[in-house]
Amino acid sequence: MVDQVRIDRFKSMTEADPQNELGFMSLGRAYVEGQLYKQAIPVLMRALQLKAELSPVYVLLAQAQCGVGDPEGAVNTLTRGYRIADEHGDLMPRNQMADMLKELGSPIPETRQAVLTPELASAGNIQCRRCGRIGPKMKERPFSGALGEQIHLSICGPCFQLWIREGTKVINELRLNLTDSAAQDVYDQHMMTFLGLN
Ligand SMILES: [Zn+2]
Repeated sequence: MVDQVRIDRFKSMTEADPQNELGFMSLGRAYVEGQLYKQAIPVLMRALQLKAELSPVYVLLAQAQCGVGDPEGAVNTLTRGYRIADEHGDLMPRNQMADMLKELGSPIPETRQAVLTPELASAGNIQCRRCGRIGPKMKERPFSGALGEQIHLSICGPCFQLWIREGTKVINELRLNLTDSAAQDVYDQHMMTFLGLN
């Protein structure tokens, strides 16, 4: 659906402050959501010109390029964006771009090769299943049981912190009552998916 009010608001924002990359990103997103892909492309490219590290913009730009029938352009955008997101640890856009590349039948770029040396391991690091990085192991199991053990051995502390925030949203939005075992299963399922464990 085209939200003309939002489009106009962001458009005047970019006109008032042509160096504001977030204004261009927001305008581009509004265009993509309204399926106005042709209008979206130059606006999103401008956002990247102002700030090449804006990982979510690559996702939007690739969607717009697919929308106008330019899958080759989308692959180029995603390949470049994936590397940038990987370098900056922007996991969500990085994973999104990996999915899009897969859908487009293109290879996912090599990520910076993380190697868990014995030194790093003995300093309390693990190779995280979610982000692929060498990260600090949690001091103890986040909760008891086999699943808690599995997470302790395979998920870095920062990623588990991200899940705690996300998990709170899941509980609130799905109105889960965790004393109920069916609700607990739903919660665990979301957690496994978020952490990349299933
Ligand atoms: Zn991690």
